[in-house]
Amino acid sequence: MLALSAEGVLPKVDYAIFADTGWEPAAVYEHLGRLETEIAMPAGIPVLRVSAGSIRDDALDPDHRFASMPLYILNQDGKQGMTRRQCTGEYKIKPIKKKVRELLGYPYPQRIPKDVFVEQWIGISTDEFHRAKDADVRYMKNVHPLIEMGLSRSDCVRYLASLGLADTPKSSCLGCPFHGNAQWRRIRDTSPEEWQDVVAFDAAIRKGNARANAAGNKLLGQAFLHRSRVPLSEAPIDHVTAAERAALQSEPADVYELEHGVADGCSPWACRGDADASAQDDFGLAS
Ligand code: SF4
Repeated sequence: MLALSAEGVLPKVDYAIFADTGWEPAAVYEHLGRLETEIAMPAGIPVLRVSAGSIRDDALDPDHRFASMPLYILNQDGKQGMTRRQCTGEYKIKPIKKKVRELLGYPYPQRIPKDVFVEQWIGISTDEFHRAKDADVRYMKNVHPLIEMGLSRSDCVRYLASLGLADTPKSSCLGCPFHGNAQWRRIRDTSPEEWQDVVAFDAAIRKGNARANAAGNKLLGQAFLHRSRVPLSEAPIDHVTAAERAALQSEPADVYELEHGVADGCSPWACRGDADASAQDDFGLAS
């Protein structure tokens, strides 16, 4: 959308916003730098980087309130579970809303007049039109230009390739538990340092997040980044094992997810459930 706007195919946007969780792969930050210097700056579009801190550091800091990542849990009785996903709301939605309020001239907790709002473009393609939603606050009106233009994911990839951006990496936290095996393998096989980083993080969260432990809310079980609920360094990321296949009851969709990750990934505006609600509560902005 940024390129379409910069090229004049779409109207020129006033700003582009990148919500930084502080733990994206190096390739994403490099790509963002390219987008900024090669596309946004020549078109006069400021790229605003917003952040609520480093999700990695916060998870390991006993003194920091931590909005939980969706970790895979193995309880003492052998039952499996997952922690609530609050990170998207805390690290992506909340800082974006904060910046939008500032841009409008009504930083929190000022009341925003009814007729003051931004038009917020969200890059959902036609393949995923069901993810397009209205904003949950009155000062944002969501628009989905790719859907309006009839652009599918492969149309977007072709367009990016035509701009020399065929290698656009997927944005998500380096150690996101929603990664599929293919993403874990890519990190292991192409970036040894980042692999060491995620393996170390996985070991460090085995007993849950640091703040909860410090506060006496100890996790009665173990937490893992990989869906198999074994340490990442030993997880079966090279293939779907027979045991995993059986555990997934041979559901083709689940096996696909194990390999490729969760389909709806981590778009700030397409996640469901807790994330939206928590961000809204924190600002008291329900419209
Ligand atoms: S990429 Fe994963 S870990 Fe990071 S904010 Fe999104 S859901 Fe949370």
